Amino acid sequence: MWIDAHTHLTGDQLSRLLALPEETRLLVNAETPEQAAWLTGEGSPRVLTSVGLHPWRAAEPLEPLLPFFERADAIGEIGMDSVWCEVPLRRQREIFLRQLQLAEQMGKPVVLHLKGCEGECLPLVADFPGRKLVHWYSSPHFLAEYRALDCYFTVGPDWADETVRRVALETPLNRLLLETDGPDAVTWATGETLTPEQLPGWMNTHLGRVAALRGIDPALLSAQLEHNFKAFLGRDEG
Ligand SMILES: [Zn+2]
Repeated sequence: MWIDAHTHLTGDQLSRLLALPEETRLLVNAETPEQAAWLTGEGSPRVLTSVGLHPWRAAEPLEPLLPFFERADAIGEIGMDSVWCEVPLRRQREIFLRQLQLAEQMGKPVVLHLKGCEGECLPLVADFPGRKLVHWYSSPHFLAEYRALDCYFTVGPDWADETVRRVALETPLNRLLLETDGPDAVTWATGETLTPEQLPGWMNTHLGRVAALRGIDPALLSAQLEHNFKAFLGRDEG
């Protein structure tokens, strides 16, 4: 079983992944009503869905996405971004807070995007009582503070980034997950172009690197990640 705890996929990429023999679980992100409609209606037990207004889209209205929140497995990715985004931070913060409140009311976990705003978001995340997953953390600051909030962390695909390696090494084993952030993000981070058919192999290598770094048997780590994924989504069968 390979698990991608945060990804973005087109319809074609997803159907090609689901046609593969490898057993998988994917938390696929939807940030427009159109994506949310097809993903939340997808119906495969292998496809879980996070729905949320991405900080890059925070200037757009939130309302058209709201009907899909109820059917989503998690609310995300949501947060703030001062590095790759020009939407005024005041507006980003307002949209982020509103979605955190909705997730809290609905009892759903959240997937967080904090790029460049890790310090500003820290008290907002601290106030959120539910389960939270920090996706592809890459700031040299505040990692211990987010860990102290009992966050889950995904190891992003960028092994050249020292913080990504720290997340892989320092996150408590029961809070660790892996992600691709989608094939395009893997290309951005590594220069590799991956077909959907190559993703399971890439994720297996990703898992092997974490296992080697931590001195753990890859099969044991894989079982732990499966447990963590269920626990994050509130599907822990005990
Ligand atoms: Zn993402």
